[in-house]
Parts: sequence; C-alpha cells; structure tokens
Amino acid sequence: MKKAVVVGAGIAGIAAAIRLQNKGYAVTVLEKNNYPGGKLTQLTGNGFRFDAGPSLFTMPNLVNELFEISGKKPSDYFKYHQLDVLCNYFYEDGTQVSANSDINIFANEIANKTEDSSDSVLKHLEKSKYIYNATEEQFLNKSLHKISSFLSLSTLKSIFKLPFLNIFSSMNQVNENAFKDSKTIRLFNRYATYNGSNPYKAPGILNIIPHLEFGLGAYLPKNGMHDITNSLVKLAKDIGIEFLFNQEVVSIKTARNKAESVVTKSDNYKGDVIICNADIHMVYDKLIPNAKKLKAVDKQERSSSALIFYWGIGKEFPELDVHNILFSEDYKTEFEHLFTSKTIYKDPTVYINITSKLIKNDAPKGKENWFVMINVPSVYEQDWEVMIAEARKNILTKVSRILGEDIEKLIEFEEQLTPQLIQDKTNSFKGSLYGTSSNNRFAAFFRHKNFSSQYKNLYFCGGSVHPGGGIPLALSSAKIIDQLIKN
Ligand SMILES: Cc1cc2nc3c(=O)[nH]c(=O)nc-3n(C[C@H](O)[C@H](O)[C@H](O)COP(=O)(O)OP(=O)(O)OC[C@H]3O[C@@H](n4cnc5c(N)ncnc54)[C@H](O)[C@@H]3O)c2cc1C
Repeated sequence: MKKAVVVGAGIAGIAAAIRLQNKGYAVTVLEKNNYPGGKLTQLTGNGFRFDAGPSLFTMPNLVNELFEISGKKPSDYFKYHQLDVLCNYFYEDGTQVSANSDINIFANEIANKTEDSSDSVLKHLEKSKYIYNATEEQFLNKSLHKISSFLSLSTLKSIFKLPFLNIFSSMNQVNENAFKDSKTIRLFNRYATYNGSNPYKAPGILNIIPHLEFGLGAYLPKNGMHDITNSLVKLAKDIGIEFLFNQEVVSIKTARNKAESVVTKSDNYKGDVIICNADIHMVYDKLIPNAKKLKAVDKQERSSSALIFYWGIGKEFPELDVHNILFSEDYKTEFEHLFTSKTIYKDPTVYINITSKLIKNDAPKGKENWFVMINVPSVYEQDWEVMIAEARKNILTKVSRILGEDIEKLIEFEEQLTPQLIQDKTNSFKGSLYGTSSNNRFAAFFRHKNFSSQYKNLYFCGGSVHPGGGIPLALSSAKIIDQLIKN
C-alpha cells in the first residue's frame, strides 16, 4: 500500500487525509498539538463552552462530501442547524438591522431602517450570485497553477465575464455605488473581513461573499463549530487513518526532486506522498529551508488577525442573536489602523457570537457564552500588552453603551486569544487568520499553489495556500489536492 504523510491536523489536513485514504493510501497525520483541529477547536470553563476559533459555518456540503466519499451517511456523524437570522447589526445612533436569511425580508428591513431601497439590496445580492456562478468552478475548485485548468470551456466563459466581476474597483467603491446609506455600505463592506482583508483595498470581486450567506445559507453544527473537527476525526479514524499527536515536524527530507520523509524530534516517516497543512511560510522557513521560495511567500501581505475575549455572561440578552456586530462609526479609519499603522482603533467594530442561543448546554441556565472578537493587525513589533488592555476597555465601554448595561459586572468567566497565541498554537505566520490578505486584485494569483514545482510528491493544503482561508476554502484546497494526485 502506498503511504501518505500529512503534516498538521487542521481542518484541511484532516480533509486531505480522508481524501487520500479513500484513494487507497495508508495515511498518517502528524500534529504538533495534543488535539486535532488547529484553529477549529474549543474551550470550556465555569459551565460555559466556547468555540475557540471560527464561528460562522458556510458550505456544509464540503464537509458532507467527505462522509459521502467514504461511503458513510453524513447525518450519522454530523448534524447542523440552518440559521434564520444571519446577523444582528447595531449602530451607534440606536439603529438595529436584522439580516434575515430570506433576502426579501432582509431587503425590506434595509428599506425600513436605512435610506436604501429594497431593490438596491436585491440587485446587489443578485450580482453577488452572478460573481459566485462565474468564478466558483475556476477559482475555488481548481488549481490556478495548472495549464489544464485553463483549457476548458468553463474557464473561457469565466475569462469573458472578468470585466463584469468588479476586479478593477475596490469592494467599497462597488458598495458605495450600490448604496447611499453608510450603514448599508458598512454592512456589505464587512464581508471583506471574512478573509481578513480591507474593503477599501480588496477587489470588488470579493462581493461574492454575501452570496455564501444569503444564497447558500449560514449554519451552526448542533454541538458547536468544534463538532466539524470531532466528526471528521471520528470518520478519519473509522476508515483507518492514523493520528499521532504531540509530534512536531521539524523538517522534510528531500532528495533531488522528491520529498522522501517527514522528520519529527523522535522519528522519521517515509511517504510516497507528503502533504503540508502547516502555514506555507513555516514550511519554507523551517521544514524545507533549501527550497529558496521563502522570499516570494514573505513578500505577501498577511491577512488580519483577531483578539478574542471568551466571556461567560451572567445574564441573557434577547436583542442579541447567534451572530452580532456592533459597528464602528468610522470603518475606514478602523481599517487604516489594521493594515497601515498596524494598531487597534479606539472604536473597533465588535463581533459577539453566542452559540448558547441555539445550543442550550453551552451556558448555564439564564446565562450566555459570549465570544467577543475584534479584528486586529497581525503580529509585527507592537506592544500587545498595552494594546490588549486598551482594547478590552474600549470594547467594554462600547458594548455597555449600546446594550445599556454594565457588561464588566456580568463577566463570570474570562479567557483570551491573541494574535501571538494564534501564532504559537498553530504556527500561523504572524498570527494571521487567513494566510495572505486579498488586498489587491491579483492576490488570488499570488497565493501559493497546492503543489511544489520542485518536489514532485509534495503538496500543500490549508488557509495559507490556494484558494484561501476560511473553512470552505481550506476544505476546497484538500479537494484540489485530491484532483492533482493521480491514483
Ligand atoms: C479566531 C478565528 C476566527 C475565525 N473565524 C472563521 C469563521 O467564522 N469562519 C471560517 O470559515 N473561518 C474562520 N476562521 C479561519 C479558519 O479557522 C481557518 O481558515 C481554518 O480553520 C484553517 O484551517 P487549516 O487546516 O488551514 O489550518 P490550521 O487550523 O491552522 O491547522 C494547521 C495545523 O497544523 C499544525 N502544525 C503546524 N505546524 C506543524 C508542525 N511543524 N508539525 C506538526 N503540526 C503542525 C497546527 O498545530 C495545526 O493543528 C477563523 C480563524 C480564527 C483563528
């Protein structure tokens, strides 16, 4: 039996392992931590449970597919709710906008709460769907770095559609053309943060993202986001994949044009195929330092990172839903802080995720598990201790002001996740959440490919390589590798 070795048990590494095992390889996954999932993990304390990283789940079909190709019924392993309300938005003047997943209800809500019309919303979402249909096959499902990907009718069609996909304008320019009200513009600009980018720089083609929520739906696994990891690891073990934890890979041994084996502190694992799920920067910096690719990878701007407070709150807030956003009044300045001065703005947009709204066991009765996150720059030489203390104070002031309640008094449990910790825990370069940013129109083409040109049996998956960060794209990268590796 041919052997495959996967470096990293993040969601993309697990997905790649499942796909390779189904192709007939005997797969071993080596993970440096003592748990699987990488960023997709959880924490508990004082009767509260929190998803530690991702909170928004889109495109569950990419998870289900992994059960299906393994001959299993997805619902035997993995169940999820579809959300009726995608997000509740709060603005400083007291306006609240509820984004219903039914686009007609949402369009009417915008017409009632802002200066924009329902037609403008429906037209914008139609365009989002158009971009998705024009690009999905080419940009999300295939390698962008194989000539064969470009020799198909579907590619030709996508290329002809390029002038209509807003690649020459920024997301913000497109949204300012579509809407009059700064509240609606902020709401749609926010989608740039779904891949850690800046809406004032990222190309308008990223207006594809609203379609993922409004067109394809937003979901929450019945046992929380962490269940994506748990159910896939269970599947992987059921089909015979071996997981070895506390196994930090320190190098990949190569000989001429082949990767021969993966080396940990204590062992050496030979593989016919080697797949790296670890951040591509780390791979070139530490695992194959002779590959001379680091400079090109280093040049690219990293996506934003996050500062998260996990707060067990001793009260329920009916005005909040699973996903909530409390907007900054000056969104543009907030992004200048994130990407130019690499600091945290004093009035940050605050995201609050509360899974206990749907998963009752996630908090004691009458209480809520708040995952409170702001976007922050990735790690440079900032004084994080000072920045975090200040951000905590500003977040508490903002949330207390908008909800009319002293939040600090209600905190019964607290933990933090910082960019530095994200870097330390998952080896994500500079603690960025989504690998490189999409802050220029060619970013999609600069993301690292899913295979090595130098070592013919070496492949790369995960949020730091093509097609990008976020659970759906990380899962797509494993699917692309599956296509690239011939039986
Ligand atoms: C706070 C936060 C919020 C997010 N929100 C969302 C969201 O709402 N929706 C969404 O879709 N996405 C979200 N994301 C992004 C999403 O989590 C990631 O894109 C995705 O989980 C990346 O998976 P991955 O497998 O590529 O990488 P990772 O999860 O980083 O996994 C890489 C794995 O490799 C291991 N590893 C690294 N180096 C080595 C080594 N040398 N030896 C052995 N093992 C190694 C790491 O320990 C880790 O387990 C969020 C991320 C964070 C951190």
